[in-house]
Amino acid sequence: MDKKLVNFAAFLQKKIGPNVASFKSLDRAIDPRDRLVNKSEICIKPSSTKEVSIILSEANKKNVKLIPVGGSTGLVGGQIADNNSQVSLSLEKMNGVSFSREDGLVNAQAGAILSDIKRIVLDAGRIFPLSIASEGSCQIGGNLATNAGGLNVIRYGNVRDLCIGIEAVLPSGLIVSSMKALKKNNMGFDIKNLLIGSEGTLAVITAAILKTFPLPIDPLVTLISVRDPIQAVEIFKRISQNFGDRLIAFELMKNTGIQFLKKTGYEVKYPFSKIAPWTVLMELDINIGKINLREEIDEILAEVLEEKLAAEIVMSQNLEQKKEMWKIRELIPLANRDIGSLCSNDISIPIGKIPEFIKEADKGLLSISDKIVVNCFGHIGDGNLHYNIFPLEGKFRTTLERERLKIFRFINDLVSNFSGSISAEHGIGRLKVDELAKYEDQGKLGAMLAIKTAIDPRDILNPGVIFN
Ligand SMILES: Cc1cc2nc3c(=O)[nH]c(=O)nc-3n(C[C@H](O)[C@H](O)[C@H](O)COP(=O)(O)OP(=O)(O)OC[C@H]3O[C@@H](n4cnc5c(N)ncnc54)[C@H](O)[C@@H]3O)c2cc1C
Repeated sequence: MDKKLVNFAAFLQKKIGPNVASFKSLDRAIDPRDRLVNKSEICIKPSSTKEVSIILSEANKKNVKLIPVGGSTGLVGGQIADNNSQVSLSLEKMNGVSFSREDGLVNAQAGAILSDIKRIVLDAGRIFPLSIASEGSCQIGGNLATNAGGLNVIRYGNVRDLCIGIEAVLPSGLIVSSMKALKKNNMGFDIKNLLIGSEGTLAVITAAILKTFPLPIDPLVTLISVRDPIQAVEIFKRISQNFGDRLIAFELMKNTGIQFLKKTGYEVKYPFSKIAPWTVLMELDINIGKINLREEIDEILAEVLEEKLAAEIVMSQNLEQKKEMWKIRELIPLANRDIGSLCSNDISIPIGKIPEFIKEADKGLLSISDKIVVNCFGHIGDGNLHYNIFPLEGKFRTTLERERLKIFRFINDLVSNFSGSISAEHGIGRLKVDELAKYEDQGKLGAMLAIKTAIDPRDILNPGVIFN
C-alpha cells in the first residue's frame, strides 16, 4: 500500500478517531452494471461536516485523491476508484434527516438514503417526489451530485428543482453553506446550482434543504396501448395541453420491455388482450381540493379511442391496480439487467422529434446488425429515453461485443444531430468522458475546466470523472 496513503489515513485516525479510516476497500462501492471494479484499498467515513473539512484539507496538502461514494447506484462509474492510489470517501455515517411541519422542508445530511427521506416525509402526510428505482440504496448526496431525475420530473423537476439549500466542503477544506430556507436569494453567485450535478468533482456535498409537496389525493393511473411513438406523443400533447402540471408521469414502454419481463420471470398483470407495440403509462393528479377532473379526462380519452390514436385504454380503479400498473414500468430496468445489455443509452431528445429519432435509430442499427433487439422505454413526457440495445439471442453476444463502439458512436451522433443530450439523467462519470468532450459545446467545456482548475487545482476530487 502506498506510504503516502497510509500516512494520510493514520493522520486522520489520530486527529479524528480510529474509526474514521479503514485499511480495506469499501465492499459496497460497486458498479451496478458490473463494468468497473473499485480499486481503492482505503475507505474514510466521516461523521460530521467538520470532519469532512479536515479530511479534504489534509488530502489537499498531501495530494491524496478522494472518490466520494454515496449509495453506489450511479450508472456511469463516478463512485468507483479506478486505481489503488485513490481513497473512497463514504458519507454513510452522515444520515440524519429532520422534517419541519412548519415550513414543509426537509433538512437531510448527504448520507441519508432517499427512501428514508421519502418515508419520513410521507409519515407527515406530504411527499418528497424524487422517484427512482434505486431509492432504497441511493443517498441524497449522490442524488444531488448527479442531479437525479426519475419518474416525476415532468411535474416536480430534477432534484435541482427540489433543493433550496446546500452545504458542501471544497477541496481546500472550506465549508460552503447556503442552508437557508429561502425561495429568493440573489446574494452573489449561485454556488448551490454549480455544485448540483458536479458529480463530486468540485466539492463533497454534506447536507441539503429539500422541498416537499402535498400528497396527491387518489391520482389516476392509466395504461394506453398505442401503435407507435407518434401516437404516444400526440396523446401527450393533448393531455399536457389540458392538464398542465396535473400530469405527474408520462412513460412509454416498447413491447420488448414487456416481453423481457416474461422472459426473466417477473410476474406482472399486463391488462391488454395482447402485448401492444408500445404502452403508455400516465399518472394524473385529478383532484384539486373538492374539484374532480375525472369527467374531463374521460372525455379526452374517449376522443383518443374514437380517433383510433389508441387501441385500448385501462384506468386504475383502486390502489392495488395502480401499484400493478407501475410495477410493469418499474421492473423493466431489472429485467434489462438480468438479460444484460450490449449498450445502454440515457438520452434526451426534444419531445416532438422523438418518433423520428426512434425510427432513424432503429433503421440505422439494423444496417449495423440484424442480430440486435432494442428495448426503448422512458420518461417520454420530459424527452428522456432509455434506448437500450441487446443481442437478439445470447449466442450472438460475443460477436456483437465487437460492434459495441460502432453502435454507441452511431447513437450518439444521431442524438447530436437531433440536438439532444447524450446524458439525460445519469451524468458523465468515468464512462462518458470522451463523449462529453466530443459532443458538448467547446465554450462550455472551457468554462467547466476553468472552474474545476480554480476550485480544485490539485485535482484531488474524483480525478478522471467528467474531465479527462
Ligand atoms: C436500478 C436503477 C435505476 C436508476 N434509475 C434512475 C433514474 O430513474 N433517474 C436517475 O437520475 N438515476 C437513476 N439511476 C442512477 C442512480 O441511482 C442515481 O444517479 C443516483 O442519484 C446516484 O446516487 P448514489 O447515492 O447511489 O450515488 P453514487 O453512485 O454513490 O455516486 C454517484 C456520483 O456522485 C458522487 N457523489 C456521491 N455522493 C456524493 C456527495 N455526498 N458529494 C459529492 N459527490 C458525491 C460520486 O462521486 C459519483 O460521481 C438508477 C440506478 C439504478 C441502479
